[in-house]
Amino acid sequence: MTARIISGREISEVIKSEVRAEIAGLSFRPCLAVVRVGEDAASAVYVGSKVKTSEELGMRSAHHYLQSNVAETELLELVNRLNLDPEVDGILVQLPLPRHIDESSVIDAIDPAKDVDGFHPINVGRLSLGQNSLFPCTPAGVIEILKRSDIDIAGRHAVIVGRSNIVGKPMAMLLLRENATVTICHSRTADLPAVTRTADILIAAIGRPGFIRSEHIRDGAAVIDVGINSVSDQLLINELFDGDELQKRLATIEKRGATLVGDVSPKDAMAKAGHFTPVPGGVGLLTVAMLMKNTVQAAKTRRAASE
Ligand code: NDP
Repeated sequence: MTARIISGREISEVIKSEVRAEIAGLSFRPCLAVVRVGEDAASAVYVGSKVKTSEELGMRSAHHYLQSNVAETELLELVNRLNLDPEVDGILVQLPLPRHIDESSVIDAIDPAKDVDGFHPINVGRLSLGQNSLFPCTPAGVIEILKRSDIDIAGRHAVIVGRSNIVGKPMAMLLLRENATVTICHSRTADLPAVTRTADILIAAIGRPGFIRSEHIRDGAAVIDVGINSVSDQLLINELFDGDELQKRLATIEKRGATLVGDVSPKDAMAKAGHFTPVPGGVGLLTVAMLMKNTVQAAKTRRAASE
């Protein structure tokens, strides 16, 4: 079997054009405030792409940068100012934060109505209770991928590897909402391949490059790769890719020192899965598109409530 590759780019472009059309029909321009702290290189790239996309879609964006040695109180004061600003619809504090800042205190300080990352305990609680709220962007993007690729969710067995608060756990809740039978695996799961081989839908959110191999995949399963790992090890790349893609990846390492790889072996997924999301070009693009969608939803809900 050769898996059908799902284009995260195509799906994210469709969602973005829907969001653009929705914004064009509003009497105001939604505003996304993005807060970045310190010099984490990946965070700078992510924030840049979020700000650029919001402006392309017709939103306003405000980018707040704070030095890495900023006091937690100063960051909390900024969050509070953004909470009180009626023109700000969505607040995103880019994670990870420097070690001296307690992430959960910062997330807790964001007004749940403006929490477009969906990480605030109120929004997490609503999701767990099956209520509508702002849902975390990456798992919400995975649901869009499945639905828009005509992959049945109801009644199917979905297995998630990873139980983080930002991906694994909300992913499980969103799949339950869609009536999947859900199993969550983690580093203490006994005989992981035996469990993952029972998955109709296998979602990898582990943070280990190419960890999911043939032995983990059921024939014909939909394999969704959430992982984003920077890899410079040529031996590993030789295991995970073949043909033209292998040559392309080795050339990227030669030129830039590393290449982005997911948590699934693309070679194995292509041979065994029914559907497969590539890295890059898969789930990551949906994360940004869903952030835009959440910002418009937050803007409409909050502004309607304050009228
Ligand atoms: P975390 O490190 O928070 O969680 C990783 C999870 O994987 C943990 O639950 C851990 O188990 C589990 N795990 C680790 N090793 C194993 C193993 N050997 N067997 C089974 N389970 C294991 O990561 P995140 O959830 O934040 O991110 C996961 C991946 O997704 C990363 O590559 C990250 O870069 C990527 N990511 C991509 C996004 C996107 O937009 N596409 C957005 C967010 C993340 P335990 O709990 O027992 O330690």
